[in-house]
Amino acid sequence: MQARPKILIVEDEPAQREILLYHLKKAGFEALWAENGEEGLLLAQESLPDMLILDWMLPKLSGLEVCRRLRAHQDTKHIPIILLSARSEEADKVQGLDIGADDYVAKPYSVIELMARVKTQLRRNRASLLGAQLRFQDIVLDAAAHKVFRAGMEIKLGPKEFKLLATFIEKHGRVLSRNQLLDQVWGQNIYVDSRTVDVHVGRLRKSLMQHGGDNPLRTVRGTGYALG
Ligand code: CA
Repeated sequence: MQARPKILIVEDEPAQREILLYHLKKAGFEALWAENGEEGLLLAQESLPDMLILDWMLPKLSGLEVCRRLRAHQDTKHIPIILLSARSEEADKVQGLDIGADDYVAKPYSVIELMARVKTQLRRNRASLLGAQLRFQDIVLDAAAHKVFRAGMEIKLGPKEFKLLATFIEKHGRVLSRNQLLDQVWGQNIYVDSRTVDVHVGRLRKSLMQHGGDNPLRTVRGTGYALG
């Protein structure tokens, strides 16, 4: 399985925190929490979560200040941040987003809506990580240019093969089941026969070997596939 996304809640009101923890865990996330800005900042730097849900009005260090400091450091500047605030003035929202929050939610909020925004931010962040080059041995996937090279020679791939390859490179060395590949490439809400995965993996493998080179994709009988 893919590692569960880790979400840090920085919220000083225990009841609010409990509700968020409950819903995040129910949605399958790993949830950490801190009750003031200082602790939140330290925990974010230490645990490098996949996302922060950050209250604006916090003891010790405000949410805005936590956001500003996280944005100032290489390790933490890309972590998506949803800022929560009881202040609903438009100017506050603009200030929050200016300081580098990715989204802003006014209190009182609907937990369902907040959870939807959490998922949107996680997806967006994953897409932007994919904006980088991914490499495995002599295979290079350039997501921004949407190109793949093996040993310096370009390989043309269809969109599904391209996403499959990105998934394999991100998780190279691990055996991925057909269902995991379906979730990653086709999405969870789409019905696709698992044999479709075999067809696309077969095409990907053939494309990767078109200029020669070893077969980098292993078939793990009864389980799935692995790169390397
Ligand atoms: Ca507060």
